[in-house]
Amino acid sequence: MELRVLGCSGGIGGANRTTAYLLGAHVLVDAGTGVGELNFTELCAIDHVFLSHAHLDHVACLPMLLDTVLTARQRPVTVHALPETLHVLQQHLFNWQLWPDFSVIPSEAEGILRYAPISVGESVVLDGVSVTALPALHTIPAIGYQLDSGTSSVVYSGDTVGCPAFWQAVNAIGNLGAVIIETAFANHEAELASLARHLCPASLARELCNLEHDAEVLITHLKPADSGRTLREIHELDSRHAIRPLLQGETIQF
Ligand SMILES: [Zn+2]
Ligand SMILES: [Zn+2]
Repeated sequence: MELRVLGCSGGIGGANRTTAYLLGAHVLVDAGTGVGELNFTELCAIDHVFLSHAHLDHVACLPMLLDTVLTARQRPVTVHALPETLHVLQQHLFNWQLWPDFSVIPSEAEGILRYAPISVGESVVLDGVSVTALPALHTIPAIGYQLDSGTSSVVYSGDTVGCPAFWQAVNAIGNLGAVIIETAFANHEAELASLARHLCPASLARELCNLEHDAEVLITHLKPADSGRTLREIHELDSRHAIRPLLQGETIQF
């Protein structure tokens, strides 16, 4: 299986795109501005979207994805997320004010947007890959995901601060290959990171002490203002794990 990194920045500007991954050809994990990297044919092939949480940098392209493919698809696009996340989308995004309610377009009976609540620990199997919701701790209800091809698993933390339940779940994975984990801020913004419930290199180091596997650690969600500094601070960490930045445009085989 392939996981294509469409966007993995904590912001925009230049080539930076916010969080979105393409799993195989038909599944998105988060729908940030990275979705704009897909061409029309690739957009029309999306059947499922798994969201980590409702923040704009993770859902920004979902409304325009649905609008773009509406007349070119016969089947709905299923959006999997926590019930709290789906509630935010219904109340504040697809509310006919910020954007039309695509759950009743083109018709009430056959809307192109289908909501599928998921809970922590629950798995959905698609195209031979098992997608399991993992616990996370953020300013709003949030989850991460385990993507298990059967051969190997890639874990994506979503946006989170330290979350013991996340590591408990990760350490129980027998075929763990890589952990994609956020580090949004540099150490001089540690207070802001804590307030925004994101990691900085110092808190990342504490979190990685919980990782019992020898999995590769891939850093995502760097804020552009301090990305160089944040990466230098991560490089200087005394960690037993192999850590490197996740690269926009790369494809992870697992
Ligand atoms: Zn967030
Ligand atoms: Zn985010």
